[in-house]
Parts: sequence; structure tokens; C-alpha cells
Amino acid sequence: MSEKQSKKVKKPGKTGKRYFKTADIFRAALFAALIVFGVIYYFTHPDAAIPKADISVKNNAFRDSLIISFIDVGQGDSSLIIAPGGEAMLIDTGLRDKFSDVESELKANGVSSLEYLVLTHPHDDHIGGASKILRQFEVDKVIMLNTAVDSPSYSRLVSILAESDTAVVYPAQGDKFALGEAEFTILSPASASNEDMNENSIILRLVYKETSAVFTGDAGEISESEVIEAFGASSLKSDVLKVGHHGSSSSTSVRFLQAIQPEFAVISCEKNNDYGHPHGLTLRKLADIDALILRTDISGTITLISDGKEFIYVGKTED
Ligand SMILES: [Zn+2]
Repeated sequence: MSEKQSKKVKKPGKTGKRYFKTADIFRAALFAALIVFGVIYYFTHPDAAIPKADISVKNNAFRDSLIISFIDVGQGDSSLIIAPGGEAMLIDTGLRDKFSDVESELKANGVSSLEYLVLTHPHDDHIGGASKILRQFEVDKVIMLNTAVDSPSYSRLVSILAESDTAVVYPAQGDKFALGEAEFTILSPASASNEDMNENSIILRLVYKETSAVFTGDAGEISESEVIEAFGASSLKSDVLKVGHHGSSSSTSVRFLQAIQPEFAVISCEKNNDYGHPHGLTLRKLADIDALILRTDISGTITLISDGKEFIYVGKTED
């Protein structure tokens, strides 16, 4: 502190030099330590600074960001992606009785219409709520497999599509679609001819500037290998992986993981589900590549935000 400044703090009527007391020095040191701690904590816990309630395209702070919400739909899948301009897509819908959870997430983010509804494969835990989504939200395109199945969910979906203006797209491997400033590529299936419907799942890779995420539906190791053969391991590296088939041991081969090298691995499953998802082996493989494992059964809906350079996670990782 300069002499001039030190004069300013002199009390009126007092004369003579003002000396720092030990307590002043202690207080200054404590203040400096708190600032240093705060800065270190912020950079090591970026999520700590952002209250979850503020994550929404309605919030100006995230208008320039891409938001992915892995919605907690119990034992099922449903991922909402919102591009910086507000263009939105939904990948899968969870079971029919989880529709209100999906609806709430869309509404909380100010989403009233979807550019795309992607239905990875026609199992109930992925398409159960599709007819309700189509009834209550404006959907421009449905991207789905050209494969019929015998189920009430599928029948409801087909009948509402028949009476709506929504375009239906049966994608081919390598097809690209724009979502605002983001873009996604269909990695799989090459043909939906596998006997195991899970292996026909639509796998897509979303890219926003320097960041990327891979969504796998319930694809297993067969599809994963086909994707590596078709695109080459080096082109698949992505920040985020929606882990295949709710963390089942039939998905997430070491080879696929080594290609993707995800920083964040998201598993969508229900607490104490009947299938034993996620499998311990899958968790170990994800831990071995140092991915941050995020689970809807533990954390509820999981939100990842990209500013175009990196994804950050907002929320808790443990009970
Ligand atoms: Zn599933």
C-alpha cells in the first residue's frame, strides 16, 4: 500500500504513521487464500458454478451452446439435443408411461417443436412415447428403421404418422443431417437385417464445432465392429458416448471404446432394474479408458453442455 493510500484509511483526528497489525496481515492472507482456492475449485469443478436450474436455452448464458439432456426415463432411452439456435431433436422417447418426464424436459427447455425425432429401433423402451410426442409436439421429420414389428407402440406410431404431415426418413449409412449449426451422420445400420433388433439400432455421431457425441441406441458389438469397418476408428473419436444398450455386456467392445475414446460415458438405466444394467464388465472397461461415467439411475437427468470447444457436465455423479 502506498503512503498516499495509507493516508486515506487514517481515522480523522489521528496523526502519525499507520502500521499494519498482525491481524490485518492475517486477514489479507486469508482473503488471498480464499481467492486462490476459489479459482482452483472453479477450474477443477466447472459444474459447481452453474446451478442446474439455469440450464436452458431460455437462459442467455447458454444461447451459444449446444445442450444434451439424457432424460431420466427409468429403464429406457431418451436424449434431447438443442442446438444454439434452439433447433431441437429427440433421440428415442422411453416407455409410454414415461412420457410426462420427456414432456417436462422439453417444456423446461422451451422446446415446442422438434426438427427430428430419431427412433433408434422399435422396442418399447425407445419408441413407447413416440405417438404421444407426435401428438403433442410439432415434429418435422421422424428418422426410423424401415422395419415393422408387432407391438401396440409400433401400431400407434404408424397410425399417427399416417395421419400427420411429419416426413418419415429411413436413413442410409453415411447420411448427414443438419441441426442448426450442428450436424449428425448416420453411422449404422448399413442394413436393418440383423435378427437381433438391437443390432439394427441407428447409431449417429453429432458434431458441433470441435465437439462430438455418439448415440448408439441398443447397438451391440456386431454393429460397433461394422461402424469401425465402414468409417475407420480414427474418424470416430468423440467427447461423449451414450453407452450402448443401457450398459449391457453385449455392447461397448474395447475396440469400439478405443475408437471413440469418450471423456463422458452416459448410461441410461433404471435403479435396480431386472436386467442387471449396467454390467460390471462395461463399467470396468469405461473406467479403464478414464471416461467419466454418468448414470441416469444415480444422477437422474444428465445434462452436458458444449460451447463448441468442450463439453462440461452439470450435476452430481453419486448418490
Ligand atoms: Zn433399450
